[in-house]
Amino acid sequence: MNTSKSKDLFEKSNTCIPGGVNSPVRAYRAVNRTPLFIEKGKGSHITDVDGNDYIDYVCSWGPGILGHGKDIVIEAVKEACDKGLTFGAPTEKEYEIAMLIKKMMPSMAMTRMVSSGTEAVMSAIRTARGFTGRDYIVKFRGCYHGHSDGLLVKAGSGALTGGQPDSLGVPADFTKYTLVAEYNSEESVENIFKNFADKIAAVVVEPVAANMGVVPPKEGFLQFLRNITDKYGSLLIFDEVITGFRLSTGGAQEYYGVEPDITTLGKIVGGGMPVGAYGGRKEIMEMVAPVGGVYQAGTLSGNPIAMTAGLTTLRYLDSHREIYDKIDKNAQCLEKAYREKLGNKVWINRVGSLMSVFFTPEEVKDMDSALESDTKAYADYFSYMIDNGIYIAPSQFEAMFISDAHGDYEISKTCEVIRKLP
Ligand SMILES: *Cc1c(COP(=O)(O)O)cnc(C)c1O
Repeated sequence: MNTSKSKDLFEKSNTCIPGGVNSPVRAYRAVNRTPLFIEKGKGSHITDVDGNDYIDYVCSWGPGILGHGKDIVIEAVKEACDKGLTFGAPTEKEYEIAMLIKKMMPSMAMTRMVSSGTEAVMSAIRTARGFTGRDYIVKFRGCYHGHSDGLLVKAGSGALTGGQPDSLGVPADFTKYTLVAEYNSEESVENIFKNFADKIAAVVVEPVAANMGVVPPKEGFLQFLRNITDKYGSLLIFDEVITGFRLSTGGAQEYYGVEPDITTLGKIVGGGMPVGAYGGRKEIMEMVAPVGGVYQAGTLSGNPIAMTAGLTTLRYLDSHREIYDKIDKNAQCLEKAYREKLGNKVWINRVGSLMSVFFTPEEVKDMDSALESDTKAYADYFSYMIDNGIYIAPSQFEAMFISDAHGDYEISKTCEVIRKLP
């Protein structure tokens, strides 16, 4: 496979962009390859600048549930562009998307649009602190909530200590209110609440963890979080940036039947444009300015082009609910092919159209067990897949996404490549 144009562009980009990329995982460092520069995408296929075609299971890390260049989305966006790109004044689309989100996710009675998932979670936490008048938050090791200072914490020596920042440039003082629990461990959460009780503003969780590879919540874990936050008067924040509109039209909260106080959205909600959102009950969301004292703003928040892409995507999902069965079945086919080929060499976690193949024989249920994976084996698997036209995430600790645009041809072609894995 010739990738000389990608290699050349990467070399040039490295001279003026840190690491040659605008988000670190794109640099392919975990798999020791040169990143592919993408020229275009249509449906479930992407084409790199050298003209190689791939079946895409990254789907832009989640937004692409309808596939690339979905006709109705592109047409709606073009039409919106003709009217102007941004006004910094309210538009009707913002009302329409807030109403549609409320219909699809009833816990989001009021929603504020922002421009990224990072912003959504950062603002949701500020709102929870404003609402409760408390400072501490609880997050889980291995859950990612964007790159804001207080959330760039995953390690930390045991659940009772305040978190240590994961990044240079984050003062330790900025993360001292971030308490870290173990995903799927009720005990670790109970211990934190025993010690910090009425100081905890919120527990923030990915209802299906998908940033340490996919790790589903154990039976009852989300309900446990609902109960303990209620008991201590803390808020429960579901970070549904990945799961929102991915597991069902109502996200993980509908899928598992547990309602959070605040939900954060991103990825699919923008239909391929830079969008995030946070929302919840009226009395919580009316803490936000200009009604309440929690300040949050954005020059391009609710941007009409971005709203058009998001709204068109959500409307399509809302009126084509059969998509969720289809992508679940297709993901199931891939899972079966992996199991038949790789057997006990791997542990597979799958929830609907979200899946991870971990190169470890043991159950992956939290960060520690995910870290047992053989990342060298993953890198070899990645190289084989890419070289055979299957584009998957360049890291063991990311999800595989299946879209509505993956048809029978793509699924059987992918299964064939899996069956020939060395
Ligand atoms: C991607 C992601 C974010 C951050 O969203 P950005 O748009 O990249 O800022 C936050 N939370 C979760 C669960 C995510 O997967």
